Amino acid sequence: MIALMFGPPGSGKGTQASRVAVRLGIPHVAAGDMLRSEVARDTALGREAKPIMDAGGLVPDDLVVRMIESRLDQPDAANGVLLDGFPRTVPQALALDAMLAARNDRVAWVVSLEVPDDELKTRILKRATTEGRSDDTAEGLAQRLIVYRQDTAPVLEHYRGAGTRIAAINGVGDIDAITERIMQALSHDGVAARTA
Ligand code: ADP
Repeated sequence: MIALMFGPPGSGKGTQASRVAVRLGIPHVAAGDMLRSEVARDTALGREAKPIMDAGGLVPDDLVVRMIESRLDQPDAANGVLLDGFPRTVPQALALDAMLAARNDRVAWVVSLEVPDDELKTRILKRATTEGRSDDTAEGLAQRLIVYRQDTAPVLEHYRGAGTRIAAINGVGDIDAITERIMQALSHDGVAARTA
């Protein structure tokens, strides 16, 4: 089962995706984490991505698509994955859909985490002081929110148009409570959690 965790920067999608992936027993595939790992290992992709990420822009679609495609080819992804931070543009979504269609698969559902802008700003500026991510600056965030509205929000409309199940979840509140909201929405939709 291929599922997407969707939401603006600072919505907590990384935190929630890692928890929900464990509950569903599928790998959590986070595009931003994979790109940061490329940067840390100083690979060719990492060197190309770093200045773009620091400025709050998007890494070119073809690079990200190739990175995700090779991740989906790994044996642990055979039963599905929970994607986080991908697809982030409509061309990425079309590439994903084509990749999955070639395997007779499709995106099964999308969780959309909803958090107001004021709360996003507070969270990211707080994260800047604790995690030291090089893109967590006031300017970086402002740019990421613009890019989110312009390039990423249409991805949700793409899946809505395709008839994909979408669970809109209130992303404000206690971290555990939000995880439960997501699990409840999924079980309501017939997605079973791993029982072990
Ligand atoms: P955020 O919490 O801001 O959404 P992420 O870790 O998901 O953080 O992403 C950090 C940065 O990595 C993005 O601002 C972007 O520069 C780059 N990035 C992540 N995923 C993608 C993608 N699918 N396409 C292009 N760039 C991406």
